Amino acid sequence: MPEKTYDHQTIEVKWSERWAAEPGLYKAKNDGSKPRYYVLEMLPYPSGRLHMGHVRNYSIGDALARYQWMRGYDVLHPMGWDAFGLPAENAAIQNQRHPREWTVSNIAHMKKQLQRMGFGYDWDCEISTCEPEYYRWNQWFFLKMMERGLAYRKKSLVNWCPECATVLANEQVVEGCCWRHDTTPVEQRELEQWVLRTTAYAQELLDDIGQLEAGWPERVLTMQRNWIGRSEGTECDFTLEGTGQKIRVFTTRVDTIFGATSVILAPEHPLSKQLCEGELAARLKAMVDDQGRKDPEHMEKEGFFTGHSAINPYSGERSPVWVGNFVLMGYGTGAIMAVPAHDQRDFEFCRKYGIPVRPVIRPVDGALAEEATMQEAFVEYGIAEVCGPWSGLTTEEAQQGMNACAQKEGFGKAAITYRLKDWGVSRQRYWGTPIPVVHCPKCGVVAVPEKDLPVVLPLDIEITGRGRSPLANVDSFLHTSCPACGRDAQRETDTMDTFVDSSWYFFRYVDPGNGRAAFDPAVVKPWFPVDQYIGGVTHAILHLLYSRFWCKVMRDLGLVEIDEPFRNLFTQGMVQLEGQTMSKSKGNIVDPDEMVERFGADTCRLFTLFAAPPEKDMDWDESSAEGQFRFLGRLYRFVTRNVDSTEGSGATDTRALRKLHQSIRKVTQDFESRWHFNTSIAALMELLNVLCQVEGGLSPAVRKEVSEKLVLMLGPLAPFTAQDLWEQMGRTGQVFQQPWPAFDEALAKEEGAEVVIQVNGKLRSRMIVPFGTDNATVEQRALADDKVRVFIDGKQVIKVIVVPDRIANIVVKG
Ligand SMILES: [Zn+2]
Ligand SMILES: [Zn+2]
Repeated sequence: MPEKTYDHQTIEVKWSERWAAEPGLYKAKNDGSKPRYYVLEMLPYPSGRLHMGHVRNYSIGDALARYQWMRGYDVLHPMGWDAFGLPAENAAIQNQRHPREWTVSNIAHMKKQLQRMGFGYDWDCEISTCEPEYYRWNQWFFLKMMERGLAYRKKSLVNWCPECATVLANEQVVEGCCWRHDTTPVEQRELEQWVLRTTAYAQELLDDIGQLEAGWPERVLTMQRNWIGRSEGTECDFTLEGTGQKIRVFTTRVDTIFGATSVILAPEHPLSKQLCEGELAARLKAMVDDQGRKDPEHMEKEGFFTGHSAINPYSGERSPVWVGNFVLMGYGTGAIMAVPAHDQRDFEFCRKYGIPVRPVIRPVDGALAEEATMQEAFVEYGIAEVCGPWSGLTTEEAQQGMNACAQKEGFGKAAITYRLKDWGVSRQRYWGTPIPVVHCPKCGVVAVPEKDLPVVLPLDIEITGRGRSPLANVDSFLHTSCPACGRDAQRETDTMDTFVDSSWYFFRYVDPGNGRAAFDPAVVKPWFPVDQYIGGVTHAILHLLYSRFWCKVMRDLGLVEIDEPFRNLFTQGMVQLEGQTMSKSKGNIVDPDEMVERFGADTCRLFTLFAAPPEKDMDWDESSAEGQFRFLGRLYRFVTRNVDSTEGSGATDTRALRKLHQSIRKVTQDFESRWHFNTSIAALMELLNVLCQVEGGLSPAVRKEVSEKLVLMLGPLAPFTAQDLWEQMGRTGQVFQQPWPAFDEALAKEEGAEVVIQVNGKLRSRMIVPFGTDNATVEQRALADDKVRVFIDGKQVIKVIVVPDRIANIVVKG
């Protein structure tokens, strides 16, 4: 058969139509006949268009799924939509389109894009989190958490735009101002919010990281550990002078408490409000508002004296009480003792405001610092000095003794605190899951009975972006009767954070049509934990932590038996343009549709897999995409012209087969280890190069064999091209349903060094010699080579330059 041109458009359109016409093509058998493998990619937000980051994420996942199918696994490979969220509401405000209509049409478009890319998903599992069939189970879980005290109400601060008179999400706060009013600073307001008690699982979330060490990236585990932020220390009470109120502080270094020279409250601490009157009240409000706008960890440390003092429980000394913007309400107790001599942050704050610095701990082998000479805090452990009865003890001894004293005297205790906060899930938004509770004037907060779920999100609304939560303006939704006493009551108008939707969707994929439960535990069990989860490192903390929390809650509800939902996690790097993140505002977006049109989906997939190891960031590079396109074209022509060729002596069979088996070994190892598909693709390119070089000497049988195995290896990476060639070769069935080619270690073994023979610097032949063959033997064999003889016969050989195991260059004259 003469070679065929690589017509990527015709090939890809043909196959995406054929595949779409075969429902159930990528369906898991789920009958236990084969070992199961669950490949999960983070579900997209239906923004309207796929971006290159999606293409990369899903190309990695699809390559893995196809490889595992070929390895004989029963693969579950689902896809769905994280369909609630703010952009739909913003679009509603800006374009007068209903969020639902906007979302549904975006999903339809993006689904087409995914199919055009050739990703092998089982669309029977598809879920969309904005459908009542899905979000009713968010509500059900919420009720279960309420029953267990894991969902509760708490006053918390929210971002408030006075111009819109509405609550803003953090994403709607742009450099401290409202996203719609860029000169209106955002304020902080206190609202009753629904909160999930993630801290009830803090220690377990920390401990179970141990179960993930083999399968998760270390940097993600470190980020999770830091986010949970366990510290051991002491809680103890300073006593406010005048009122006798207790100010409970948390410290990890109680041994330094004799060096405490002030008490500092978080701006949101209830006492701050009480102690600040008149001008101070205004300063406090400004500080609270400011804190909502900035990242507290990176802001300039500021504070002011409240005019009040408190008594140190250990030393009996009076300490001034300050308010400081660097003290976090969510950490410890929201109040600290400042020990500037032994804490660098306190040191900077106290130096700035002239608060005394008093050293009380000395180095084990040194003297106590002089205050006047201190340039920075001494934060190491050491020996306590001037610490009353604990003087002379080591840090550890003093801590133990002081904890015991606090316990005995009743003013404190040893304590553990976590940086992790409970999860605020209330959103004053429309496009989310309604929180299933009712507010009754008589009974208070009443849960909606399970039988009345779902609380359906009404569709007849107007979204203006101003004033109260949109649901509060829908009378038919708002007014209801109390499930407990039957009186007139009002529904909760807050909706849930969309991170709720994404905390358990991967369980629903396995049993998506279940109308009686979130899922059937027996159906879900054999697929969990997920064998491989793949997504961006931007979700390394929140989404993954919430999913881990949700799994533990489900385990305690008796729905699953596992502690952790994901056995292995892979975080891919970003796709950038010239080192910059692609974004609409920068106008540097590379549109996948356009690239598919020009180069084809297979080229896009190969490019994203080839450009860098998948965990690293990569740059979109058009010339490299062109390189992938040319590679596919060469490969296509090679296979088509060799399909039924009857030519060839077989002289080069050994070399071709050796390279083939080396390539299979390499690609298999890449799939089985770190997915460095960039080296897999490089190996396939090298293989094709060698095959083209030796093509003339191949026997018909070897032509067939190398072509077939090359196509099979290409299958997971460029499925359209591979499938089309499979058909050209007269084969039936799907490439991903064929067994993965095995490699033969003996055939792959390099027999010896391949020495290139040059005549006057030009490549004329090659030969294999045993490794380490001496120069004289190499020279002799080079001169005897048949192909070389043609170029040297009748000429004078001046010398032969040998590079051991690599080159023999024959220099001739005449
Ligand atoms: Zn505004
Ligand atoms: Zn009632």
